[in-house]
Amino acid sequence: MRKLTTIFTFSIMLLMIGCQQSEQSGNSNQQTKEWAIALHGGAGYVSKDMPEDRKQAYLESLEEALAIGSEILENGGSALDAIEKTVNYLEDNELYNAGKGAVFTSEGKNELDAAIMDGSTLNAGAITGVTTVKNPVSLARKVMTESKHVFFSAAGAEAFADQVEVERVDPEYFFTESRYQSLQRALEREKQESSNLLDTPEEKAWKYGTVGAVAKDKNGNLAAATSTGGMTNKKFGRVGDVPIIGSGTYANDEVAVSATGWGERIMLNVSAHTLASYYKFKNATLQQSMDYLVDDVLEPGDAGFIAVDKYGNFSMKTNTGSMFRAATDSEGNKEVGIWED
Ligand code: ASP
Repeated sequence: MRKLTTIFTFSIMLLMIGCQQSEQSGNSNQQTKEWAIALHGGAGYVSKDMPEDRKQAYLESLEEALAIGSEILENGGSALDAIEKTVNYLEDNELYNAGKGAVFTSEGKNELDAAIMDGSTLNAGAITGVTTVKNPVSLARKVMTESKHVFFSAAGAEAFADQVEVERVDPEYFFTESRYQSLQRALEREKQESSNLLDTPEEKAWKYGTVGAVAKDKNGNLAAATSTGGMTNKKFGRVGDVPIIGSGTYANDEVAVSATGWGERIMLNVSAHTLASYYKFKNATLQQSMDYLVDDVLEPGDAGFIAVDKYGNFSMKTNTGSMFRAATDSEGNKEVGIWED
């Protein structure tokens, strides 16, 4: 009888260990893709009635940006190179609120923020409040690789740009009529005291537009980058989520994440790092981690994110109604889209 009880107890123990293992296996045994990349051109509210030519211009530019990063990865290039060049393309395209197309501050200036993070070293570089740097993400990369520091602001960041020979331009370079008109409308509404931080849905579409990219390369390294003009009518000196490591931008050896949307909400929830922590400590899949962040942590209308994981999975999700986005991988999976569904 005692022998039977021992065998029974032993079997129960084995069963329990088995259960624990299967609970923990949610995130393992996945087929690994050689490389993957995802990018965004901002989350917000974009009406589905957007003029067809404008919609096509967005879709074409998303495809082009994706092609730049994919080619680098397919040829064995690094995740860092892929995301930097992808973001550079979006920074140079005035459709997006980053680089050339940056939105205006309440004072009528363009103050740019950017960050980049190398998941394989956990090193990062960030800059905020620059007004003369053509491609802020490239300066952020130099901060990461050529300085002892992580984060430079305003005049100091621009002095550093000269030291490391990153291109500077006249602030006029960032003037675009559409963004300027957007500021005028925002100021007008502010005067009428009828606005709040998020404004009307139409204005939200103009207010946001940050760009970002995340990638996994053939060596298994992950990296994330984000670049922005911030939010239309932001007050002087305002720093958003983008250059705050762990909020708008984060990468480690498991996931890489880039955010877009209402910066204050993104940073208060330490969003990108929250996704990474959920992935690690819950042993969750990338999609489960993304769902947790977008659906449970943030509130509807707050933000959107793109992410890749160490298996080469990608995930892109917003709760703002729309997010310009594109992703692909070495297996030929591909998604390019604007609206939530
Ligand atoms: N998150 C950016 C910021 O608050 C804005 C955006 O994503 O469009 O600066």
